Amino acid sequence: MRLLIDLDGVLYRGRRALPGVRELFEWIEARGHSYSLVTNNSTRPPDEVAAQLRGFGLAVPPDHITTSALATARWLHERAGKGARVQVLGGPGLLQAIFDPALGFRPDWYSPEWLVAGSDFDLTYQKLTAACFAVQRGAQFIATNPDTTFPTEQGITPGAGAIQAVITLVTGIRPTVIGKPEPAIYEMALRTMPENGEVVVLGDRLDTDILAGQRLGLKTVLLLTGVSTREEAETGEIRPDFVFEDLCHFLAHADDL
Ligand SMILES: [Mg+2]
Repeated sequence: MRLLIDLDGVLYRGRRALPGVRELFEWIEARGHSYSLVTNNSTRPPDEVAAQLRGFGLAVPPDHITTSALATARWLHERAGKGARVQVLGGPGLLQAIFDPALGFRPDWYSPEWLVAGSDFDLTYQKLTAACFAVQRGAQFIATNPDTTFPTEQGITPGAGAIQAVITLVTGIRPTVIGKPEPAIYEMALRTMPENGEVVVLGDRLDTDILAGQRLGLKTVLLLTGVSTREEAETGEIRPDFVFEDLCHFLAHADDL
């Protein structure tokens, strides 16, 4: 089995690991399954995510983590040659992924061929203006993830999708989106994993995790430890193949899916 596993609402919630998370990784190891943790968050590089997971007692190698930043960098690598001029609106995770020396992209704020927009906690009017100019002048507009909001302990803050929406309002041009619910991020994650049987998506959101899986024809499992509810899963437009209360209930049935 190849598992594509969401993070927040599936493995942990805020600062607390969710029930069954250690047992999940023990089960994966015992059965020889492969997995990638797939997150729309582009701001943190995989080693930071791995460090957070270590705090929950989970030893996940950074190369088993696919962020929307990494998926975007891989996607761009398949389309843009070495030396391509790229402007990035984003945090350290996105900058590190796109300007990985192995890819050979050049940062360019004046005549970029590509504009990559994610979450940028140091966003300024100047950067937003430069991004709008880039798109007006023909740069291809790529979005790491479409989430309009980003939850924090103080409240809801603007997510990558809100920043991208400003560029779209100004230029009239919509981005190509890599993150969930678009399927590209899962496709990129699967390329890093061995061919190892059926693919199963584990997620807590119908409109992102589950929809992206369905768009690729994958088996989908909704866990009720995050955003979406059983009622939404049973009455809404997006119906997952399986719904479980939490990882413990999933593990009780996981060998028979
Ligand atoms: Mg989630």
